[in-house]
Amino acid sequence: MTNTPIRVTVWGENLHEHRSERVRAIYPLGMHETIAAGIRDELGDGVVVGTATLDQTEHGLTEDALGNTDVLTWWGHLGHEQVSDAAVTRVHEHVLSGMGLIVLHSGHESKLFRRLMGTTCSLRWREAVDREVIWKVNPAHPIAEGVPDALVIPRHEMYGEYFDIPQPEELVFISSFSGGEVFRSGCCFIRGTGHIFYFSPGHETYPIYHQPEVRRVIANAIRWVYRPERERRRSVMSPLGWFE
Ligand code: ZN
Repeated sequence: MTNTPIRVTVWGENLHEHRSERVRAIYPLGMHETIAAGIRDELGDGVVVGTATLDQTEHGLTEDALGNTDVLTWWGHLGHEQVSDAAVTRVHEHVLSGMGLIVLHSGHESKLFRRLMGTTCSLRWREAVDREVIWKVNPAHPIAEGVPDALVIPRHEMYGEYFDIPQPEELVFISSFSGGEVFRSGCCFIRGTGHIFYFSPGHETYPIYHQPEVRRVIANAIRWVYRPERERRRSVMSPLGWFE
């Protein structure tokens, strides 16, 4: 066993926060900083958390940065098309070789997620004041640990089916909305050796990443997508060594 902390990079496009007074009031330091703070609060010494944003050189997603990241979280919306194809390719390759990825909310339509899924990842949506209830449909799953059976988000944008994704390897949460819609809101995928969790809460005009149960889900997901064997796999040089 090792006590090496999980190195987490929280990526946020950081655009709404600069364009909307309402969003800035909820996330004065940017959504990425609130998400990062929640992870630090939940996982303490178990993590080292940094952030990266769209406006940085190579969006903060250089080969070096990704090589030093065990788990990447991704929130994007307005800036999907501004993310360079080179950066998407780099992140994609790191995921295939074992970097964990958590895609949040409108990240479903990012170039990265669509490339990993191979589908449009489109969905039904309505920006209104719906009450969302996130139901555990896999209570034994590590990502559901310590999460209420029915996690209520009092006000949220509606995301509904059909959500054009491949069948998830594991489904952890399904949401229902006051409009009657349902949505697969917590989905696990594996691509290469990389573990991916999609979690839909997080519309920018509601204080969702301040909500303790949501922070808990993200923290659980970090532990689930983290693959400590990634380092070791890369360090195996000689196949003959396997049989010694
Ligand atoms: Zn949204």
